[in-house]
Amino acid sequence: MRDLSLLTWKEVKEIDKSKSIVFIVLAPIEEHGTHLPLATDLAEGEYWSRGAMKELEQRMDVACFYLPSYPVAAASVNEFYGSIHFPMKVAYEVAYAVLESLCYMGFRNIVVIASHADPQHQIAVEKAVRKINKKNGLCAIAPMGQIFMGVSVEKSPELQKLENEHGNDYHAGWVETSCMLAIDPDHVREGYRDLPDTEITDKDMIFRKRQLEAMGDYGYIGSPRYASLEMGKALNDNCIASVCDAAEKFYRRKGYQKYEHYPLYDILPLHIGFWKIAGKVRRKKVSA
Ligand SMILES: [Zn+2]
Repeated sequence: MRDLSLLTWKEVKEIDKSKSIVFIVLAPIEEHGTHLPLATDLAEGEYWSRGAMKELEQRMDVACFYLPSYPVAAASVNEFYGSIHFPMKVAYEVAYAVLESLCYMGFRNIVVIASHADPQHQIAVEKAVRKINKKNGLCAIAPMGQIFMGVSVEKSPELQKLENEHGNDYHAGWVETSCMLAIDPDHVREGYRDLPDTEITDKDMIFRKRQLEAMGDYGYIGSPRYASLEMGKALNDNCIASVCDAAEKFYRRKGYQKYEHYPLYDILPLHIGFWKIAGKVRRKKVSA
């Protein structure tokens, strides 16, 4: 795998586009509780895509490329300290600009890793992917929305059990804390095992105010105390295998459709964030 941005334009031009896959990560700089860094989603997206690229190059006759990550994303809860969010329209426009540039260079297999599960972000990215594919023929896929919804290669029984027992783990809970422990334990602050569980139901997750209440003074939604390095390895491996599966199927143009469409995209009220006023990012000023 190679960093596309470290090549010259001439070297990029000479790449055999029919035998290459490009990965781009779009995720926010965003608070992740008192125990995880702001760049958690970016670190996850980079780790998962690097893992998938390594596997793809071993598995098939293909060259993988990536760009530096774009720290651009939309989110429904903006007012927590430390987050840098963008309106849905901006996330969509940035995603589209990157896709159009790569597509015009001749790349036909672009995998967008939107490693931030918020529906606003997933919808913004899918809208950009739909537009580029409609205008230029199929050239991009964004599989993370579906992977976050549970579409994946088979999960280990242990992982499945933990997911069933400790659901409602939406943000910086045991899932993300485990992933980060496995990516680099230095990213995780001590004391995550002493953090209290937050109480929220699936239904309440659609209400911004309930989410903020659940986040309280900490900023996470879930149960960080169940996190472990072993679980993180299992979660990361499953995600890498799923991204790899999506990318390979997309490259072969066969069987990729299950990763193509994020079901919440069809809920029209969730598109209201594309409007200027409804999509305004709520930034809270803190006095120095
Ligand atoms: Zn996250």
